Amino acid sequence: MRVDLPPVKERTDFIHKVNEISGQNLLLCYQCGKCSSGCPMAPYQDYFLPNQITRLVQLGMEEELAHTKAIWMCTSCRNCKVHCPRGVDLYAIIVALRVLARRERDRKEGSIYPEATNIRI
Ligand code: SF4
Ligand code: SF4
Repeated sequence: MRVDLPPVKERTDFIHKVNEISGQNLLLCYQCGKCSSGCPMAPYQDYFLPNQITRLVQLGMEEELAHTKAIWMCTSCRNCKVHCPRGVDLYAIIVALRVLARRERDRKEGSIYPEATNIRI
């Protein structure tokens, strides 16, 4: 499958925003997948598992992340953090993505996953 990455500046700006809001360093993630194996919501996600969310942020795919229900299904149990050998707090990243998706919704009506409008972040 061909994937078109955003321009480099957009990509790095997005990564910096997520790092800043979450307080995490996304580049520590090396895609071992342990966060996904311990996630109780993984079987119910659309096509993005927790480790794939991290990868999409690394690739700067802001638009895809704003539209996925995966970031709104998270229960905040933090099993992913416990399992991560690199100390990445994926939940903090998910919260950052929710904040950015809400900001985007405020800017452009309809850009957020519709059922997520009442979820607290
Ligand atoms: S905090 Fe969210 S992403 Fe992490 S294991 Fe729990 S439900 Fe899954
Ligand atoms: S457990 Fe940590 S290092 Fe492994 S894929 Fe998940 S976030 Fe990345």
